[in-house]
Amino acid sequence: MNEEFSALLIDWYEQNARSLPWRGHSDPYAIWVSEIMLQQTRVDTVIPYFLKWMERFPTVDALAAAPEDSVLKAWEGLGYYSRARSMHKAARLLARDHGSRLPGEFKTLASLPGIGPYTAAAIASIAFGLDHAVVDGNVKRVLARLLPYTNAVNTPSAEKELRGIAQCLLPAGRAGDYNQAVMELGALICLPRNPKCAACPVSSQCAAFKDNRQAELPVMKEKAVVPHITVTAGILHQDGKVLIARRPTNGLL
Ligand code: SF4
Repeated sequence: MNEEFSALLIDWYEQNARSLPWRGHSDPYAIWVSEIMLQQTRVDTVIPYFLKWMERFPTVDALAAAPEDSVLKAWEGLGYYSRARSMHKAARLLARDHGSRLPGEFKTLASLPGIGPYTAAAIASIAFGLDHAVVDGNVKRVLARLLPYTNAVNTPSAEKELRGIAQCLLPAGRAGDYNQAVMELGALICLPRNPKCAACPVSSQCAAFKDNRQAELPVMKEKAVVPHITVTAGILHQDGKVLIARRPTNGLL
């Protein structure tokens, strides 16, 4: 299905992609910022943060030179602050060791703080045109339905297997558009519940659609139960002042 599938998908993407402030950017730094912000956070929430961030820290050097407090302030409200801390740390490494540029090489990207295989593949493909497939929750869902892939998708072995499959489906030289197209399909059409198959550009290629199994896929292995922890909290105040302590960088809550 490779060539027809990717051609249908990219055609659809070119006509239906949402206009987002980081799209059309060829600046690897802007793509990196957007990818980090989009981890765990909705597109609508990210847009104003991204625009303000790019004004406040328009380059790797600007971010590297900023004090941590101002970086965390600019991140305030986005949550998962370790993302901002890692990006700040990575910017300082880039300024020190890489001429303040993101390296156009998957392995070096993936060695930077806060950049895992997904983000490294996204930056490598979108910013540098390198043939690396992205695999995140959206992509796993799309692949599980298309193939079909009937093992649980949220296991390390499935991650590896799906990464290999995604890499095989990638049209050489079009990785940036293709990756964004699969993610866009997962975000707009191949939704977790009630996928919009009637509007799907690749329904002719989709095994789940053919067999009416969309609701069964992807299969998810049940996650371990989140432990419940009881804690006691106190508030110290004196003469109208309240004691506030900064939380440690690591650890719970
Ligand atoms: Fe997803 Fe439906 Fe398209 Fe298959 S046909 S990829 S289930 S939206």
